[in-house]
Amino acid sequence: MQRELTKSEQDVQLVRDRAARNQSRLDAGQGSAKDLQALQHELASLARRQGELEDIEIEVMERSEQLAARVTELEARRAEIVERVAQLESERDAAVQKLDAEEVTVGAGRADIVAGVGDDLAALYEKIRASSGGLAAAELKHRRCGGCRLELGNVDLNRIRTAPQDEVVRCEECRRIMIRTGESGL
Ligand SMILES: [Zn+2]
Repeated sequence: MQRELTKSEQDVQLVRDRAARNQSRLDAGQGSAKDLQALQHELASLARRQGELEDIEIEVMERSEQLAARVTELEARRAEIVERVAQLESERDAAVQKLDAEEVTVGAGRADIVAGVGDDLAALYEKIRASSGGLAAAELKHRRCGGCRLELGNVDLNRIRTAPQDEVVRCEECRRIMIRTGESGL
């Protein structure tokens, strides 16, 4: 836009210079009557041309002002976004910090629990966890596996119902360990 503006200003200036030169030659009165008449004709045509170019210049200036206003608007918007990003980053950092602290708290009791369930079950748990998107055990609730959400059939439910309390029961669909509770629907 600036280049276009400069160009339109230069165009007008060229015509003005040319007209000024013609005018001073005319004022000096040198040359034949025919020459002077030709100069006058050219002056008239230069004046028209100057008018046209000035219109263009004004139009370019108006567009330039509109664009400058748009730039100002966008800069303000960018500042808002930058501020918003900073705010969200600070919220994210706070959340990560909280999760880190939670991980320490939750993890603190893990060693005791692993020792309690024994190496075999702990190893099975880790194996399922690795192949099941991090969720190795889920509550069996209202006849549904909490891992894959599928409802168990009567055969499976009967098997689980009669299984000893300390037996590790697993979902036939997703192979996750199912935790039996009072709400399992058995
Ligand atoms: Zn399942």
